[in-house]
Amino acid sequence: MSDNKRPDPRCGRCGKLAADMAYLDTFWAEDASVSQRMEEDERWRERAEYIRHSDGTYNSATERFWCDPCYVAIGTPAGRCP
Ligand SMILES: [Zn+2]
Repeated sequence: MSDNKRPDPRCGRCGKLAADMAYLDTFWAEDASVSQRMEEDERWRERAEYIRHSDGTYNSATERFWCDPCYVAIGTPAGRCP
């Protein structure tokens, strides 16, 4: 249990926080057991960190990015989320 607040960033289209996107675990965790052993707030941080360091649509000025489903839905534009 933790009272820690989920960190930004969040998707600029659907508004979901990276911290709540479980699919991101497949990118930063070596395998599913790694993320499953972690506390929930650790997974939130790892997901947020992954977006900040590795997502090409992440905009550090606004802490916004496009999640995969939204990015596909808007036609995979080049550049960062405004
Ligand atoms: Zn989205």
